[in-house]
Amino acid sequence: MSKVIAILPGDGIGPEIVREARRVLEVLQKDGLDIAFEDAPLGGAAYDAYGSPYPEFTQNICRRADAVLLGAVGSPQYDNLDRPLRPERGLLAIRKDLNLFANLRPAVLYPELANASTLKPEVVSGLDILIVRELTGDIYFGQPRGISVNENGEREGINTMRYTESEIRRIGHIAFAAAQKRNKKLTSVDKANVLETTELWKEIMTDLNREYPDVTLNHMYVDNAAMQLVKNPKQFDVVVTGNIFGDILSDQASMLTGSIGMLPSASLNETGKGLYEPSHGSAPDIAGQNKANPLATILSAAMLVRYSLNNEQAACRIEKAVGKVLQQGYRTADIAEKGMKIVSCSEMGDAVINAM
Ligand code: NAD
Repeated sequence: MSKVIAILPGDGIGPEIVREARRVLEVLQKDGLDIAFEDAPLGGAAYDAYGSPYPEFTQNICRRADAVLLGAVGSPQYDNLDRPLRPERGLLAIRKDLNLFANLRPAVLYPELANASTLKPEVVSGLDILIVRELTGDIYFGQPRGISVNENGEREGINTMRYTESEIRRIGHIAFAAAQKRNKKLTSVDKANVLETTELWKEIMTDLNREYPDVTLNHMYVDNAAMQLVKNPKQFDVVVTGNIFGDILSDQASMLTGSIGMLPSASLNETGKGLYEPSHGSAPDIAGQNKANPLATILSAAMLVRYSLNNEQAACRIEKAVGKVLQQGYRTADIAEKGMKIVSCSEMGDAVINAM
């Protein structure tokens, strides 16, 4: 039976970049990959069609699908809507609905784009890190929380860092499995010298390592990880960490690459189903102009093929094609250096398809 991919273009540049990623997937389909597409709106587009940013129509398609490919949501025309109706709520709702607890954010710096980074080219050129961040637990969700008046009559803010063993195990499995598909090196980031929650985290990661003996596991305190990411980022392969540390470290790692139009992401649940989307937003300033860089979305489609369709070979085929078009000198405006010829969103899509 065909694997079903829900296609959610969203708003702004979403439809343009998703069109190119879909064309790339159609090349694989023509070559025998057994996939089918179902289209649905999300965000502002869904509000316009159904009066809700994540309507039942879209819910049904996404729940049935094996994977979801999303562009981006949001546009200034929706900024005055009531909060529950705003496009960004659609994104939070779909993540919750599909129970997407594992966020995978690669930070890859293609040698041709080394000048886009603020770090020295020799430090970052060829960088290829995958950050696996737990997305539904930790201090962002732990109870008790809130601001109240304490016994001394002073206002006090409280948040609670909390992880259960099963929550740590399920993100650990995702990270070890991802490391097995890469260079078999996993760094677990914690603050076990101070925080008991992460002492448990460290203990469970060590225990899980027995199920993945081919993966080399090391542990690093989060403060050191932040330093090492800037000092010698190429020492990392896969990094696994909790929600708050991952929030910060994944943004730090992505900025090592310097170019927002190149960064894919995946959010997975326990069955391997995932939502795949570029890390950037809907770029309303360039929407509808065929100027956007589609590569982050095309690379998100490659992640979809790898993690939800389990087809490493086809995923590599897309990633290699992206590397090749950069080598050939194709650049959209956001990644072009002075004097380089600039191609449109659809021309970049054409170039990737030719390179495949
Ligand atoms: P943004 O990422 O949309 O844009 C920031 C800058 O980067 C803009 O100058 C934009 O033109 C540029 N840019 C982004 N993606 C690009 C691409 N693929 N190619 C070329 N240039 C690109 O962030 P923003 O301006 O803060 O937000 C715009 C809208 O996007 C808002 O409504 C926001 O809520 C929404 N947003 C959505 C998501 C999401 O859907 N996951 C994430 C972030 C922001």
